[in-house]
Amino acid sequence: MMRFTKSLLASVALCSLLSLPARAELDVAKLKTTIEASVENDYPKLDALYKDLHAHPEIAFQEVKTAAKLAAEMRAIGFEVTEQVGKTGLVAIYKNGDGPTIMVRTELDALPMEEKTGLPYASHDKTNWNGRETPVAHSCGHDIHMASWVGTAKTLVGLKDQWHGTLMFIAQPAEEEIAGAKAMLDDGLFTRFPKPDVGFALHDGASAYGTVSYRVGIGSSNQDGLFIRFHGRGGHGAMPQNTIDPVMIAARFVVDVQSVISREKDPTEFGVVSIGAIHGGTAGNIIPDNALVVGTIRTFKPEVRTKMLAGIERTAKAVAAMADAPPPDINLDAGAKAVVNDPAVVATAEKVLKAAFGDKIRTTPPNTTSEDYSEYVNAGVPSMFFNIGVYEPERVAAARNGGPPLPPNHSPLFAPVPKPTIETGVTAMALAVLSAFDQRARGP
Ligand SMILES: [Zn+2]
Ligand SMILES: [Zn+2]
Repeated sequence: MMRFTKSLLASVALCSLLSLPARAELDVAKLKTTIEASVENDYPKLDALYKDLHAHPEIAFQEVKTAAKLAAEMRAIGFEVTEQVGKTGLVAIYKNGDGPTIMVRTELDALPMEEKTGLPYASHDKTNWNGRETPVAHSCGHDIHMASWVGTAKTLVGLKDQWHGTLMFIAQPAEEEIAGAKAMLDDGLFTRFPKPDVGFALHDGASAYGTVSYRVGIGSSNQDGLFIRFHGRGGHGAMPQNTIDPVMIAARFVVDVQSVISREKDPTEFGVVSIGAIHGGTAGNIIPDNALVVGTIRTFKPEVRTKMLAGIERTAKAVAAMADAPPPDINLDAGAKAVVNDPAVVATAEKVLKAAFGDKIRTTPPNTTSEDYSEYVNAGVPSMFFNIGVYEPERVAAARNGGPPLPPNHSPLFAPVPKPTIETGVTAMALAVLSAFDQRARGP
């Protein structure tokens, strides 16, 4: 008896020494089946929510009705909801004993564009944006994210005997304007509410539904806006000698700035500058007194970004100096930083996701698009941002083999297949969150 007690004590001591709590491995196959059954059961509700959100989209910082719908859903599941965090954002908390806080983020906003999918639940809504009436559409699929977010919350609450800690579900406004994450943080997201130990977010895209892709390290690009106003001296188009022509200066800039990419940047590193708009002048015979060039700058690495910004600024000053014009007004507006996935969070989730999804989970190169989820990462939340597909696998395969191209995010024809997309979103996200709780419960 004595000996038994001694060896028991010894083994307890050994356990605590090695941080090995007596906790069984997650039974992923069983969990996946349970989650899938729960989603299947909830799907009619999620489908109705998705189609309602899709038909009535709202753009950045106008997401009042959208936020109210999500708040009602989360309260019905049992979350404590705080509204108007960062203008239209919301924070939903569910406490389930001692343990880590895990954050799951969705976006609320749609895009100022017309939907042309012809779907029965297509948006015909319009809104006022920058003083003009504009159609609104969920052409980035944030409605898919919202439905998956609600479905994940419901699923995790249903599985609350499997985890302990706090769920922190946040719905963020204005992702498309790269402003909502910052608005929520500035409004005390991590001071009025717990600062999460781990964070997750997902985004849909034009790949096959049922697939999940992710990346360790850099997952999306740094984004900087480019606004340069070239000044000249206006006058008659027939007497250019009396003018300084800002249209010509702008045109030279648009061409010459690409040499920063092709000659100054290391060709093996990602970096792109695109000019999306030039505004200047009114009529063919008037040389205007200024011209505005608007663009976007994307990079992955900070050192490449610094080099490109310097080259772009130098080129703008040089083309103005060349025409003997006054210096231009240069505004290279810092937007989103790259989302960097945490290796430890990814390693934990990846094990579970691979067991659940097999060869349908894969790693991908980083996206050249940008995301303000990076704000949470840079505020100190180790995270995993992953992608899910939205189209029939056969259509994706056909497109790869030269068939009709599939409409990407931000296309007026972007049209996810709701059921398998949302089901994958919920299953992958619920498993990722469970893996993080499980990892924390096991200790380092
Ligand atoms: Zn978007
Ligand atoms: Zn998006």
